[in-house]
Amino acid sequence: MPEKPLFEEIKQTLTAQKRDKKDIAKIEEAFEFAKKLHEGQYRVSEEPYIIHPVEVAKILVDLKADSHTIIAAFLHDILEDTDTKPEEIEARFGQDVLTLVQGVTKLGKLQFKSNEERQAENFRRLFIAMANDIRIIFLKLADRLHNMRTLNFMAANKQQKIARETLDIFAPLANRLGIGKIKAELEDLSLRYLEPDKYFEIAQLVSQTKAEREMTVKMLIDQISKDVKKNGINAQITGRAKHYYSIYAKMKRLNIAFHELYDITAVRVIVDTEKECYEVLGLIHSQFKPIPGRFKDYIAMPKGNMYQSLHTSVIGPRSKPLEVQIRTWQMHEVAEYGVAAHWRYKEKGSQKANNPADMQFSWMRKMVEYDKDMTSAEDYVNSVKLDLFSDQVFAFTPNGDVLDLPKDATPVDFAYRIHSDVGNKTVGALINGRIAQLDTKLNNGDIVEILTSKTPAPRLDWLNFVVTKQASSKIKQWFKKNNRENHIEVGKSNLEHELTKNVFDEYMKTGEFEKVAKQMNYQSSEDLFAALGYGETTTNKILNKLKKPQDANPEATFHTYNRKKSEKDIIGLEGLLYSFAKCCSPIPGEPIVGVVTRSKGVSVHRIDCKTLENIPPERMLDIRWSGDNTHKTYTTTIRVETGEKLGLLKDIIAAISDNNTNITYANVKSKTNKRLGVIEIGMELDNIETLKKVINCIQAIPDVFSVKRIQTSYSANSHSSGQRPQKKQNKSNTKKKN
Ligand code: MN
Repeated sequence: MPEKPLFEEIKQTLTAQKRDKKDIAKIEEAFEFAKKLHEGQYRVSEEPYIIHPVEVAKILVDLKADSHTIIAAFLHDILEDTDTKPEEIEARFGQDVLTLVQGVTKLGKLQFKSNEERQAENFRRLFIAMANDIRIIFLKLADRLHNMRTLNFMAANKQQKIARETLDIFAPLANRLGIGKIKAELEDLSLRYLEPDKYFEIAQLVSQTKAEREMTVKMLIDQISKDVKKNGINAQITGRAKHYYSIYAKMKRLNIAFHELYDITAVRVIVDTEKECYEVLGLIHSQFKPIPGRFKDYIAMPKGNMYQSLHTSVIGPRSKPLEVQIRTWQMHEVAEYGVAAHWRYKEKGSQKANNPADMQFSWMRKMVEYDKDMTSAEDYVNSVKLDLFSDQVFAFTPNGDVLDLPKDATPVDFAYRIHSDVGNKTVGALINGRIAQLDTKLNNGDIVEILTSKTPAPRLDWLNFVVTKQASSKIKQWFKKNNRENHIEVGKSNLEHELTKNVFDEYMKTGEFEKVAKQMNYQSSEDLFAALGYGETTTNKILNKLKKPQDANPEATFHTYNRKKSEKDIIGLEGLLYSFAKCCSPIPGEPIVGVVTRSKGVSVHRIDCKTLENIPPERMLDIRWSGDNTHKTYTTTIRVETGEKLGLLKDIIAAISDNNTNITYANVKSKTNKRLGVIEIGMELDNIETLKKVINCIQAIPDVFSVKRIQTSYSANSHSSGQRPQKKQNKSNTKKKN
């Protein structure tokens, strides 16, 4: 094909439309620019690629789209298929054109995969919502129309898919926008690929009956044109077969054969004024018998897409039924071009493009105005829906299903929309292939992939950001019902943390928790723990109801520490749970320090205990003995080094007993090679003064070299968590390692 004529036809049409010369020059510049960029690229049909943008532009010129839309038609594939940068488009053709091109490119990336009707409706809505400028939809429809016209070059499986998508999405979209012309062509082209047998059968039958149909229409014209002229009405009367898809749809809907369809012929009467429409209707009804129930006044009550006409069916010449549509030229424009008719009429006077935002807005407003008079609830709902899109966001599953969610919806809302099971197992999300926070707000067209764990583990903090009722109620429900075991565990561990494990176990044994549960109106201690875990009650509330530890059964509670204690022992620990550190076994009277442990309250150490080196100062409490310890005993261990002498152990034991002190154990280690005896003795005594006396007495024994109080060797590394070296105090029980 020679190059120049490629643009020539468009140029002629634009000139005929009396477009501004500057605009035509700019449109031609866009053509030249695109031609250069697509050079060397070919379509599947083996035509040069530029043919496609040219044909798309032609469709839009026919719709009398504004010059920016036509420029964008030429450029609509260059962002995707060439190396052109958006900045270059903006520099050459301006921001408005760039926005249009980017809009079409973005819509082009949407993949429609499901053919469920609900999905199709969502997809159509998504399209409109994403194309925040209605001209982008026009570009997309024109693009699709040309692709459908050239679909025969595609592989069969692609033909099916594209035709299905066209029938489910694009034809209804064209209908929604009132562009009857494009809608009908898209439907017929889709049918050709989806139901080729039916399509060609209908085409053949329509062509076979053509002569007969034309004859009928001619007779009708002959019979009424005299009357029409007599009434001073200037009318154009035409008749032709309805488009193939509408015939097919009717056959399918009524489940009848072609020959049973009685009104495949549509007679169209176009007049100048609305008044003349009703006059012509009267003239026709006076000559031909109307079929009852077939009259519709879409002038008084326009369709949701602004369509206006009078419809009637009559028994025409030779007793052939005919459908008659009567409308003004302006109504005809709207029927053919829908929203674009708005453009076409406005542009008649001035060449200035309408403000795109205004245009969309006035269109929307018009929709809403029409709604007031609308009788069909379905029409009303459909058109009002359009206006409500700003409150919605449409997002995709990786399979291409569209989910409509309220504005500000997050991946968690998305997950619960798929299924509550998916929601409960959500651990992360990919948005458009990238890891995203679960509280990210979704945008139109986002592809959301939910990452799940094997077991459900929703989080209460999700309630802070989910926006769907579905998500929040499912989360709450799960926490209340399905996570009982977990809550019991959390509740128990919270109590253990506060009480120490020993105390907790003791309360369990004595049934104290059961009592408290009943007091607090829970069925059982498990219910009580679950309530605590779920956050329905607090640890403090439970602690206040529990008996004090020393009342509970002190022997049993503290026997593992091998000593008795009371809250009166130590000043600075009032009301706190505490235990004596085994590593240094402090005795009343000597300097001590309290160390706050993770799970066992305060651990009391001697101030010179070696293990304190590893304890950060913020965990230490300043405490001292209360002095009221006379009736109690404490354990300590001393190490005595002696020379080899039989009978020495007996003297040492006597020295200890003389000071009213019990020996709890003794261990003799003879180091014969060094001629040295080592004796470790564990004792129970009341305070540090007694210990001093004991030590003095032992030292007074001949052959005793030294007496030292020791820290037991096993205790420094091996017992309670409080003494384990650790840099940070971490409240969480689950995170044990960094
Ligand atoms: Mn294209």
